[in-house]
Amino acid sequence: VALITGGDSGIGRSVAVLFAREGADVAIVYLAEDKDAEETKSAVEKEGRRCILVKADVSERSHCHKAVMETVEKFGRIDVLVNNAAFQIHSSDFGELTEEHFDTTLKTNLYGYFHMAQEAVPHMKPGSAIINTGSVTGIDGSKQLVDYSMTKGGIHAFTRALSGNLIGKGIRVNAVAPGPVWTPLNPSDKEADDVSKFGADTPMKRPAQPEELAPAYVFLASPHCSSYITGEILPVVGGY
Ligand code: NAD
Repeated sequence: VALITGGDSGIGRSVAVLFAREGADVAIVYLAEDKDAEETKSAVEKEGRRCILVKADVSERSHCHKAVMETVEKFGRIDVLVNNAAFQIHSSDFGELTEEHFDTTLKTNLYGYFHMAQEAVPHMKPGSAIINTGSVTGIDGSKQLVDYSMTKGGIHAFTRALSGNLIGKGIRVNAVAPGPVWTPLNPSDKEADDVSKFGADTPMKRPAQPEELAPAYVFLASPHCSSYITGEILPVVGGY
């Protein structure tokens, strides 16, 4: 049983579908896009697995509690938590990055991961795994994403620290750090010209498709593949 935040769209959706193909029932947490969430649900069901949708804001502790409880009530357990929801808006002028914007980024990307992990861990048995979505921006920084890069670096540190904390419970904690990926996240606040060049500065000269990220999550979720791996940040960055 996997609980995936931001599973309605992009990387989260492709992880949900590949997890289902590997035999997981999936709970999806999403913020607002009911139609997208329904599409993910039917894609999971086409793989022959069950899917529940939980509309919740991960920046709110009570919503995270609800998401975990609904998953446990429906499926009886949680084996894998994928922390993947994120807020990202570019701001080219550092002086114009508002307190409100900064707050939303930290509340979603850091508090959200913290809340979800703290709520889920009491229900996770030895052999379970947490996978966080970091980013290349958390390694290199991105000048138009100062706040977002801060949170992604924080997620990498959170992954390493939490892995040590949970090792005694037999729960592994790792992160995937994607480079540019073709999802709504970046085009949504960029001009068409910029969008057309998205990912062109990678050695592969293109962004990844979400389906090229999902196998990394399966690898880190499955004890058959990664039982001796915890606290690692796995970059999937097109050759940077
Ligand atoms: P996406 O926009 O397709 O999906 C993000 C999802 O997060 C949204 O659909 C939404 O449901 C969810 N979300 C946002 N705020 C939320 C909140 N407060 N509560 C609950 N859910 C919320 O984007 P994506 O590219 O698939 O992003 C997935 C992850 O990958 C994110 O953590 C992002 O930072 C990371 N990432 C993406 C890229 C990229 O180029 N697309 C690169 C590096 C890292």
